[in-house]
Amino acid sequence: MYYTTHLLAGAAVGHLTGNPIMAGVLGLVSHACLDAVPHHDYHNLKPGLVDCTLGTALWFGVLLPVGLPAAVGAIAGAIPDLEVVLKQVFRNWPQIFPSHSGLSPHRRLKLPWGILVQAFTSVISLALILL
Ligand SMILES: [Zn+2]
Repeated sequence: MYYTTHLLAGAAVGHLTGNPIMAGVLGLVSHACLDAVPHHDYHNLKPGLVDCTLGTALWFGVLLPVGLPAAVGAIAGAIPDLEVVLKQVFRNWPQIFPSHSGLSPHRRLKLPWGILVQAFTSVISLALILL
């Protein structure tokens, strides 16, 4: 899934736990769970930059002010995709996170459904954080 989707879902999980350590652990778990949901992934720079800018703006503008558990959960939820980015730059970068290494499913879904499932996940996550 996109960085912003993982960020918001991890933040929602972290916010609901209310504990920064549990937020970190469950944020990582949320990443593997969301990667198992069929979704769309982009494979070039432009959407990646938009996604990264939007997610980072949300982290500083919304998630960090909500509290430490949400901020930690967001980072933990998104950080596994760093190895995916590094593989784009360094072809031989290892993929060790289970949903990237092939150990657990990483399912694909064509457009527009692959984006809609992420928009839905993001909106629900944001609602869980803000309501
Ligand atoms: Zn991933």
